[in-house]
Amino acid sequence: MQKNYILGFPRIGEQRELKAILESFWSGKTNFKEVKKIASELKKRHWLYQKEAGIDYISSNDFSLYDNMLDTAIMFGAIPKRFQHLNGEQRYFAMARGDKDSVAMEMTKWFNTNYHYIVPELSLDDEYKLDATKIVDEYNEAKELGIKTKVNIIGPITFVGLSKRVDSKDTFELYHKILPLYEQLLKEISNLDDEIVVQIDEPFFVKDNDTKVLSLIKPTYDLLANVSQNIKIIVSTYFEHSNEATNILINTPIWALGLDFIHGDGNLDSLEKISNSSKILIAGIVDGRNIWKNNIDKTLDLLEHIGRYVDNEQIIISSSCSLLHVPFSLKYEQNMDSELKNWLSYAVEKLDEISLISKLFFEGKDALSEEEKKLLENNTEANNSRKNSKLVHDKEVALRVENLSKLERDGAYEDRIKLQKELLAYDDLTTTTIGSFPQTPQIREARRDFKKGTLTKELYEKKMKDYIDECVKVQEDCGIDVLVHGEPERNDMVEYFGEQLKGYGFSENGWVQSYGSRCVKPPFIYGDISRPKPMTVEWITYAQSKTNKIMKGMLTGPVTILNWSFVRDDKTRDEVSKQIALAISDEIDDLQNAGIKIIQVDEAAFKEGYPLRKEKIKLYEDWAVRDFKISVSSAKQETQIHTHMCYSEFNDIIKTIEAMDADVISIETARSGNELLKIFKEVGYKQEVGPGVYDIHSPRIPSVEEIVKQIELLLEVLPKEQLWINPDCGLKTRKYEEVIPSLKNMVEAVKIIKSNQ
Ligand code: GLN
Ligand code: ZN
Repeated sequence: MQKNYILGFPRIGEQRELKAILESFWSGKTNFKEVKKIASELKKRHWLYQKEAGIDYISSNDFSLYDNMLDTAIMFGAIPKRFQHLNGEQRYFAMARGDKDSVAMEMTKWFNTNYHYIVPELSLDDEYKLDATKIVDEYNEAKELGIKTKVNIIGPITFVGLSKRVDSKDTFELYHKILPLYEQLLKEISNLDDEIVVQIDEPFFVKDNDTKVLSLIKPTYDLLANVSQNIKIIVSTYFEHSNEATNILINTPIWALGLDFIHGDGNLDSLEKISNSSKILIAGIVDGRNIWKNNIDKTLDLLEHIGRYVDNEQIIISSSCSLLHVPFSLKYEQNMDSELKNWLSYAVEKLDEISLISKLFFEGKDALSEEEKKLLENNTEANNSRKNSKLVHDKEVALRVENLSKLERDGAYEDRIKLQKELLAYDDLTTTTIGSFPQTPQIREARRDFKKGTLTKELYEKKMKDYIDECVKVQEDCGIDVLVHGEPERNDMVEYFGEQLKGYGFSENGWVQSYGSRCVKPPFIYGDISRPKPMTVEWITYAQSKTNKIMKGMLTGPVTILNWSFVRDDKTRDEVSKQIALAISDEIDDLQNAGIKIIQVDEAAFKEGYPLRKEKIKLYEDWAVRDFKISVSSAKQETQIHTHMCYSEFNDIIKTIEAMDADVISIETARSGNELLKIFKEVGYKQEVGPGVYDIHSPRIPSVEEIVKQIELLLEVLPKEQLWINPDCGLKTRKYEEVIPSLKNMVEAVKIIKSNQ
């Protein structure tokens, strides 16, 4: 009996080979044949990794040249009109990335991960038609290598649920057009082999779905599971529990359910029902979202618990989700502290864990080979070392958290803002920016060389200071009121702080696909967090010394730092976030003591940290707000605290945002006029707001008239006393040639508005 399983494997390549070849192809340096060749090599290598590790269920169709949702849209011929004149790879990549005539399809986050999928565009007018070539080819490709794969596909309810309709109406109205194609697809798949396993991913089931969506499950899976006798269907969910769907699926003729017991412990409530239904349970017990070595003792306890309900014969051991969300292999972490490295497990290492755990659980310790015994020993050792390591536990931090009594700043907003307006003497419609200025090739190079050790500290600092001088001058010339230093010393708003905090680790090659060929390398929090010394004070005070205007200090908030890192799993997220908050509060205190009067604490990732299930939202909001407030609790009443969030859909969370109690919040609104600001008025939002007046995502320079219009729209909603004027977000991806005229126009627009009043 085959007993272990992974949902899917990363595809970008352990040295990002896919990224390299795609980017070379896009820039015209390589032909498509070469791309296909590399893709084949990667698929082969990844299959063999899994086979060698003893994984029984290996997937095909988890590979993609860009994204699996895009592949699925193409498979059904769901091609938006603007791409219909194109073909083949030209069309595929135009849909993903846009071309000179057409904008790319929208991209959005895959549930609560940092992976972005392409959002299919569906229309009632379109006719859809199946083309299963990719799936068929990939299955046969593996078969030729002697590997019999299960076929991964994105399920119909998830596919339709995550698509959008060109007329913005409910996508499920076209469900009847899509479902028959799945029926056909399964027929085609059934011809591939005598017996074949199909993994149908339905992560949409982990959301709070209405009865309309839930009512589709039974007819869909009754239909699909009956297409062919030689197909075994697995329905997989991940990232949360999917109990409502499980309840229905056990009464359909599917073969197995794949559930996540790491991020969806609610699934435990379904065990008895699953057992009674005699369905196979693919138990996701090795974390596919984090980089820690599995704690095998704990996992065996969990499996024993599951085994109390579900027969061993019915259980298959699995990853909690596709391993797409973790880096490839520890092999390339050459310079990492060996103690730390020994605590980690990337995708390749997780294969061994899954294989080992399944052997242990089903056959017992005696069945292990010498090599496996060693692996187990090392696992126990590593977990013990982590439990007791000085690197992880810092008594001082623990004591400080325990004795923490100051949870928020002094003074009510109404009193603070009066003091601030007096002291800072700023006008209505004050202009500012969000923090970063263009990252020039020169500063990138300087940072790189400094890190490598080929640039001295003195020279590095001089280069950064030169940049700041220039940046300050640019802002003064443009007539901006509240200045920033431009963030030249930061490669990334989280990594920069991570590098300076104790308890943070960095990988050399820990790349995770974010979208298309893009990867991120999140830092990881392994221990108690503290701040050995000030992190930003020198740069900010230097910048302040260069101007008589107010220089705004720039920090990243605790929730964002947490959400964009891999986080230790031996403490709850909210405990970790509280430690970060304390470190930030120290930084704020140092900044204000050094004479900085306005400090911005960015919470760009506040919204993406929201849980998938309503029942968990309050808990998240409680600690996220608590920790933002702790992080600014050191601010004196007259120190003005700003925050920034780069989105604008605040309808559901406006009261939470208000409770964060920042004196000023800047947000992204330019692309939607004043629509998204209305909620602020509706709820009587008290604090000041800086709605973006132009879109920074495009190189286009907004005209004065355009910005005037935008400000007028804003003024229809909120009074001028409550408004700041700024771009949508940071300017780091723009060029100075774009930024300077844009800011000048912004300042000019404010002048016109003021003179008209
Ligand atoms: N201060 C940061 C910047 O301007 C904020 C970035 C962000 O919101 N993502 O780049
Ligand atoms: Zn932003």
